[in-house]
Amino acid sequence: MKKKILLIHTGGTIGMTRDSRSGVLRPDHFYAGLLKVIPELSTIADIEVEIPFVFDSAELGFQHWQRLAAIIQSRIGAVDGVVVTHGTDTLAYTASALSYMLHNVPVPVILTGAQKPLGELRSDARNNLINAVELACADIPEVCIFFDYQLMRGNRTSKNHINFFDAFHSPNYPLLAEVGINIEIYRPNILHPGGHFHVFNEFSSALAVLKLFPGCSGGYFQPGDDVRAVLIVAYGAGTIPLQTGELLPRIEAWLRQGKLVVLDSEAHGGRIEPQLYESGSRLLEMGVIPAGDMTFEAAAVKLMFLLGQYDRPELIKGNFQKSLAGELTELS
Ligand code: ASP
Repeated sequence: MKKKILLIHTGGTIGMTRDSRSGVLRPDHFYAGLLKVIPELSTIADIEVEIPFVFDSAELGFQHWQRLAAIIQSRIGAVDGVVVTHGTDTLAYTASALSYMLHNVPVPVILTGAQKPLGELRSDARNNLINAVELACADIPEVCIFFDYQLMRGNRTSKNHINFFDAFHSPNYPLLAEVGINIEIYRPNILHPGGHFHVFNEFSSALAVLKLFPGCSGGYFQPGDDVRAVLIVAYGAGTIPLQTGELLPRIEAWLRQGKLVVLDSEAHGGRIEPQLYESGSRLLEMGVIPAGDMTFEAAAVKLMFLLGQYDRPELIKGNFQKSLAGELTELS
């Protein structure tokens, strides 16, 4: 019997059309006729299409993530898998958010998009969609991103290319599957959720992000009382300047005010090791929390998610350092 797949279209280049005069790409309702454009999809599965909103993904935020989670929750038990088509710009953020919200999701939730609209020559849309639907029929119970022949854990990915078709990478976690002549599913890399499925909905925007760069005085960065967590995107293994500027006393002040301070790195590959250098080890002694090997997207969304779930900083801190949905390699 054919599997049932819920296809949720949210916008992005994949479904945009180009204005013939200006050349600007705009969201379109193109997807209403999707099954006529890619009839092969209905040979793979019975497809049910849902279009809750159609936006460039730069527009998306908490309420869109909540809407997606609610649609998926309402169809769990009735469908074998879910495919979400989405703009690539914030795809890794939405995938991270859904991975935390859809706790113990029992079916594949595969997000995909395209670098070129479905209607254009040499588009990657058809390929990404057909493969995402085929993989959504498999036993892969987690939130993933499929792009350019690769299936990745959603909360481990970052957009790393603007022009080429391999727009996403998963720097710190191996692929979940690869598509060639055959589909290779790498079973040991896939999550096996045990508990019951539950949707967590709350998020909080009480997060501020400071990205360091040489010459940055940081004086402009004044997180107010409404900010409960500061995420510092530092250098390499987790270093900050000690001799120049006044970052250390300012971080001390934020900690005294009860804010959580998290240390991440601008480098994508590897795990931050703040204890390797003086500045990082001072930060650890002060109570700054390292982001481990999480991507920036996974760490920022996780903080907003935990700030939404909990008031008590110890609970946020404790949960941030645990893997909630495979986004972090826990040290044993
Ligand atoms: N600006 C588009 C979006 O994120 C880019 C894309 O889909 O590739 O919606």
